[in-house]
Amino acid sequence: MLAPLQLNGFYAGSKPIGSSNKWIVAVIDGDLLIASDNSAGVGSIAIDIDQAESLKFFRERSICIGQWQDRDCEVWELIPEAAAIDGFTRVELRSVLAKSQDAEFSLICRALQLLDWQVKHKYCGSCGQPNVVSETEHALQCHSCDIQQYPRISPCVIVAVIKDDKCLFARHPNWPENRFSTLAGFIEAGESAEQALHREVFEEVGIEIENIRYVGSQAWPYPGQLMLGYMAEAKTDVIKIDGVEIAEANWHRYDQLPDVIAPPTIMAGRLIEQFVMESKAKYG
Ligand SMILES: [Zn+2]
Repeated sequence: MLAPLQLNGFYAGSKPIGSSNKWIVAVIDGDLLIASDNSAGVGSIAIDIDQAESLKFFRERSICIGQWQDRDCEVWELIPEAAAIDGFTRVELRSVLAKSQDAEFSLICRALQLLDWQVKHKYCGSCGQPNVVSETEHALQCHSCDIQQYPRISPCVIVAVIKDDKCLFARHPNWPENRFSTLAGFIEAGESAEQALHREVFEEVGIEIENIRYVGSQAWPYPGQLMLGYMAEAKTDVIKIDGVEIAEANWHRYDQLPDVIAPPTIMAGRLIEQFVMESKAKYG
């Protein structure tokens, strides 16, 4: 077998390579359980399998999620009682993602997305018989009608809409008063990413956009999204919010951003960071 590529330590393989040691990503109800002595460090999400031995008793499900730092890596879904074991700390998912760099971010998203997918696809959608986990790939199989289900990934677009030295920030109705972000939405069946961008921005704030630029992508585990990040220029600066998906939207200059915005580890924050960097170079 070929040695896995070194993608900053993360490799989304579906088969184990048979390494002599393993890493474990431990999940409890969508939160992570990490080794307490690693709680402040980067790259601390995976637990050495020797250290994870005491968690085995609480394990409900395990899936090979590929390789992490040259070793096979599994996600273990644990019952909540595991959080009481000495030497481990339960941490909330969002707070971990906000601090994680790309490779670790991907590892966490993969672990959670595969668990969620298996739990929610126990039965064949066509005939209702129980699905069986494939032994050769990440697939769920129905033997009675020969249908295979693969992990469901939902592509979304997220975009920093820019007008000269300002960027558009919006607040969802269920967010706190001072939290703002860039616009985002699911790509509809049949749409291209570009069509989704034009539609979402127009529906949410009544603005037409042009000069769309792709920035990058990132998995987002709520539960299986793939965020495609873009910058775009607004044709006008007149905002007309829909009042349903968006409660409030405003233009902010690059040196007068809202109080609470996403960190640059998350795609929204990365787009904002890029807007600030480009605006400083142009207007600063
Ligand atoms: Zn079936």
